[in-house]
Amino acid sequence: MSERRSIGSILRRLFLVDLIKGLAVTLRYSARALVEPRDGANPLQSIYTAQYPKERPNIPERWRGAPKLNNDPRTGESLCTACNVCALVCPVDVIQVSHASREFRDGEKVKKKKVLTTFVFDTSRCMFCGLCQDNCPTLCLELTQEFELAVDSRAGLVWDREMLEKGINVVTYKK
Ligand code: SF4
Ligand code: SF4
Repeated sequence: MSERRSIGSILRRLFLVDLIKGLAVTLRYSARALVEPRDGANPLQSIYTAQYPKERPNIPERWRGAPKLNNDPRTGESLCTACNVCALVCPVDVIQVSHASREFRDGEKVKKKKVLTTFVFDTSRCMFCGLCQDNCPTLCLELTQEFELAVDSRAGLVWDREMLEKGINVVTYKK
């Protein structure tokens, strides 16, 4: 019995049965890709190979990626009120907000208000849980759909206010 089994295993190896089975699976999936291509896709391109970076992947709407500090589109002024809520709710303490007190005139009265001075966000330790974004009262802090956060040095992962307001630089590759 064991002799018959070993002969069977030798024959399988000799005739490359496992290799042929594997190739058959690959061919079956490739044929399906040719017959049922994605909407508008070239049927000669396999649907199983992402063509990144030439083709950017579709990122889910609720993806939490690169942080952005949004300004008021009409005035260009920061929408951040320096309330510090985002820094307080962050479980890993990666946000630092500082402010100054500025005087302003409201009719006859002189009032004071907090003005954002610096905003530091350490993306290297952020776990993209979204708590800061969800608790921001002015909705100015946003975790965007941009996912290309890789840099050459760890220093580039600590973003200051300017970087946060500008947002990540998206490189578009040509086909
Ligand atoms: S996404 Fe989460 S971990 Fe990252 S800064 Fe916001 S609260 Fe902190
Ligand atoms: S919670 Fe929003 S408004 Fe408050 S400091 Fe953070 S980003 Fe600014």
